[in-house]
Amino acid sequence: MTGENISSIASALIVGGGIGGMAAAISLARAGVKVDLIDLDPDWRVYGAGITITGPTLRAYSQLGLLDRIKQEGAVTDHSRIRLFNGQILRVLDEPVIEEGLPATGGIMRPVLHRIMQDAVRALDIPVRLGLTVTALSETGDAVDATFSDGSSGRYDLVIGADSVFSGVRDLCFPHMGPAQPTGQGCWRISIRKPPEQDNMGEFYFGAEAPCGITICGEDAVYLFLLTPHVEREEHLSDDELFDHLQAHLAPFGGNAGWIRDNMTRADWINYRPLAAVLQPRPWSNGRVVLLGDAVHATTPHLASGAGMAVESAIVLAQELARNASVNAALQAYEDRRFDRCRDVIESSVAIGQLQLDHGRPDQIAGLIEGALARLNEPF
Ligand SMILES: Cc1cc2nc3c(=O)[nH]c(=O)nc-3n(C[C@H](O)[C@H](O)[C@H](O)COP(=O)(O)OP(=O)(O)OC[C@H]3O[C@@H](n4cnc5c(N)ncnc54)[C@H](O)[C@@H]3O)c2cc1C
Repeated sequence: MTGENISSIASALIVGGGIGGMAAAISLARAGVKVDLIDLDPDWRVYGAGITITGPTLRAYSQLGLLDRIKQEGAVTDHSRIRLFNGQILRVLDEPVIEEGLPATGGIMRPVLHRIMQDAVRALDIPVRLGLTVTALSETGDAVDATFSDGSSGRYDLVIGADSVFSGVRDLCFPHMGPAQPTGQGCWRISIRKPPEQDNMGEFYFGAEAPCGITICGEDAVYLFLLTPHVEREEHLSDDELFDHLQAHLAPFGGNAGWIRDNMTRADWINYRPLAAVLQPRPWSNGRVVLLGDAVHATTPHLASGAGMAVESAIVLAQELARNASVNAALQAYEDRRFDRCRDVIESSVAIGQLQLDHGRPDQIAGLIEGALARLNEPF
């Protein structure tokens, strides 16, 4: 937990109740700030995928005080298995443990992680308004007037845009920023029961046209991901077609990936999403409006670190608001601490994806991944 009280602001509006927005709400409310949280989704849901939570992400969740529940309701491990695409085992990796008592890596279903974070938000009595966004933000004096989509309004010392890669706050207040850029790859995911031969180790499959992996997300839950060159038509498939295409893409695989291909059902959650990334140019704040998470540092899943970066950004923002008497100085310090680290994640992730598209050598790709993960293990 951040532990320091914030005196630079008394109130904050957080737009977007995803991973970054909830992490910010929890960090600020614990530091004594009166927080309002809004989300566009009237049901405050998240889609049914699993998510990989690396060591640095677990460290950030530990600072939020949520590690124990993630360990209980997700899955953690200190090892990963590397296989050839046909299932042959090549290596078992000892994943580095970055802090004593912290697992090296893990996974959890997104709806479970969402519920854990929502429980923390509710436990802090943070008012949450759903089916709502901001339609105007204007700064006068030392505060921002927010107009909401239901016609109501509010005045806040700080507004945080954590409203996804398609951020509406970004569109309202940051004309120097733009949309995320497609990287040329797409990501297939299926959430499914655990294959009978699958132990608690995540797996990576190399040597096929499409890289593939499995993350354990709980007692009887895993998700498989597969990265393919993006094909426009695959973005618009029906559920039945998604099933058929994923099964066809998995044709070369053995091991547990092969079991998933042979045992997947049309009831399993399947998704295909073209990948895009962007590190938004500085500044990341305009007066008393600031961005965090995918709104300002959206990455691809190659280092499984987008969510971790969002949680880290929320923690750093709260720390700097506690350390600095001036809001401007705090927002500048937040951006200074986050920019290069987020740039590294995004540039490395995009470079790994490009090497995969260019049929780069597996040792080159592994070298890029290991180097970037080692840098991410450094304190943030
Ligand atoms: C295919 C894929 C796989 C990934 N896998 C991983 C992984 O394994 N590990 C990992 O760490 N990261 C992964 N990521 C990245 C991770 O999902 C994101 O980085 C993370 O969800 C960002 O959190 P966020 O809170 O910034 O945005 P989001 O999670 O997108 O949340 C934004 C919230 O804002 C709300 N919202 C949107 N627009 C508005 C608006 N105008 N007004 C109000 N509310 C709004 C939404 O309803 C949502 O609740 C993956 C990403 C992709 C694309």
